[in-house]
Amino acid sequence: MESTNCIICNKSSFDIFKLLEFDNKKFTLVKCLKCSLVFLNPRLSESDIGKYYNENYKPFQKKKNFINSIYKIIRYINFYIKKKIIIEYVGKNKNNLDIGSGDSFFSKKLNDLGWVSSSYDKFNPCDTDIKSLLKLNKKSFNSITIWHSIEHMYDINSVFKNVNNILSDSGFLFIACPNIDSKEVDYLNNNWAAYDLPRHIYHFNYNSMSIFLEKHGFTIEGVKNLKIDTFYNIFMSRNTNALYKILILFRCFVNQLINIKKSSSLVYVCKKI
Ligand SMILES: [Zn+2]
Repeated sequence: MESTNCIICNKSSFDIFKLLEFDNKKFTLVKCLKCSLVFLNPRLSESDIGKYYNENYKPFQKKKNFINSIYKIIRYINFYIKKKIIIEYVGKNKNNLDIGSGDSFFSKKLNDLGWVSSSYDKFNPCDTDIKSLLKLNKKSFNSITIWHSIEHMYDINSVFKNVNNILSDSGFLFIACPNIDSKEVDYLNNNWAAYDLPRHIYHFNYNSMSIFLEKHGFTIEGVKNLKIDTFYNIFMSRNTNALYKILILFRCFVNQLINIKKSSSLVYVCKKI
């Protein structure tokens, strides 16, 4: 295990946010007193985390079972929602790079529809066409997508330095990640599926994300949500009664309708400053 400072402001002043247990091991989430980022501290080292990205990790899973089928259906629905968001800001058939692409599902689907999309995943290089962000030409992409992968990135600051280099000046960056301010965290407490120990090492809210993006030369142009992630996060939460899940599902949908910053997952639409 390794201890870290806040990856946004490099401070070591934080409060304990939550004590969690997974696989008979204890984990601590802390909250930075300056920027409000919640992060796993201490965390597994990057050399030790690899074994948690095996064939049982859902984005990499190829075997068929009920839970995996639900995951695949949600991923399929989310693909069309994400594509619609990109079209709204960038237009159709542009040059996209998907970072943290897993098995490259998103890029393959875009390419099938006539787009040009490349994929990069440090934890799953076999399934991607780009092996290093450093070798890419400056300002060569109209859009860069980071779907539910920012919360896994050990080298997050160097990735974002590269993202700023390779995105065109008029391009858009789209980031989706679980939202630590989501309403279901209040109801599910330690059982929230999106804690996803020990892989999720950061938990952003709108505030910490905007500070992080500004540090890397980006501003948030718009914010959207992925409503179906509410269903997935609640459905997948451990030790929770099925009837209670249905009740809080309804309450969480109402809450995010009133305030989008309470959604399960937020999509940040970003431009270069
Ligand atoms: Zn901080």
